[in-house]
Amino acid sequence: MSGHPTGIPGVHPKGIGRPKIDSVDYNKCPLLVIWEITRSCGLACSHCRAAAQLGRDPRELTTDEGKTLLDDIAGMGTPICILSGGDPFNRPDLEDLIAYGKRIGLRMGTIPAATENLTDERLASIKRAGCDQVAFSVDAPVAGPHDHFRGVPGAFEKTVKGIEGAHKAGIPVQINTCFAEWNLPYLEDMIAFVKEKNIVFWEVFFLIPTGRGANMKGISAKDFERVFARLEEVRKESGFHVKLTEAQQLYRFQSLADGEMKKSPAVNAGKGFAFVDFQGDAYPSGFLPVSAGNVQKRPMSEIYREASLFKDLRDPEKLQGKCGRCEYNWICGGSRARAFAMTGSPFGPDPSCSYVPKGNTVA
Ligand code: SF4
Repeated sequence: MSGHPTGIPGVHPKGIGRPKIDSVDYNKCPLLVIWEITRSCGLACSHCRAAAQLGRDPRELTTDEGKTLLDDIAGMGTPICILSGGDPFNRPDLEDLIAYGKRIGLRMGTIPAATENLTDERLASIKRAGCDQVAFSVDAPVAGPHDHFRGVPGAFEKTVKGIEGAHKAGIPVQINTCFAEWNLPYLEDMIAFVKEKNIVFWEVFFLIPTGRGANMKGISAKDFERVFARLEEVRKESGFHVKLTEAQQLYRFQSLADGEMKKSPAVNAGKGFAFVDFQGDAYPSGFLPVSAGNVQKRPMSEIYREASLFKDLRDPEKLQGKCGRCEYNWICGGSRARAFAMTGSPFGPDPSCSYVPKGNTVA
């Protein structure tokens, strides 16, 4: 899969998401929607959520269907839309979709895969179309392990060239890194790598064992706490934003460190976030493979606001196990995608959290 196994690209003052992010009410609309415009991709990443294929699927939403979706996303008040894949550069109408999204007021980003498509010319072309931010996946700071993980020799080199090409084109650059057991030993080297790359945003994902990543091992609950502490330091000392995805317990970690509860909830599956796949099926997250409908039959806005799966995911009272009893559940709630992957229920406890709740639920 492309750029990244989905997850949540970020929001940076200089990049995607500047206008309305503070005023987004997660009951009314997500902060961002990721639309997987194609599943076709020349890579074969070990952790690919989408199990991407080489060729394009005839069931992909057409350009016009995609514009209808973008209208609905903008209409419900969502400020950000990310066009993902697969490899979004496999669609020749990518620029048309970016330009359309910009015209109707969306911040538009994309996540190209490190293939032959990733040229300076194409990057300049998406810049002309109005692309606000472009994300590249780097899971190890050196070629060997990165290419092994991505399944294609040369992927690392192409990614580094892509980052340089995006800088040349003048597009703010984001790096996405997905940590799992195999690459956690590279944490310090990855920090050094991203610091060198003049990025605006580092999005750090934590593996959800789903799709092609189902047999991979994530990091331990203890290591999550260690990584949080280190990334808090990076956040303070760096000129770029550091955003963690599928690590909602960071909000509990920060609340404890600050001595006061955070004021707003973490983005979570169906709560500030929605994912639309290549054929229009809508999901609370790309990592939570339970669809709540198809956007060609029911608008995304209606699915987000009214489908019981989405509504229940926004309700801390529905959480089970220790996440249900936890006093931090309304700001954290645990990764609903990881709970689904590891317990079979999207409302189950998140096994990656080491916190022992005091037993009171704060709704
Ligand atoms: S127990 Fe669940 S809700 Fe509480 S901090 Fe951990 S992941 Fe979050």
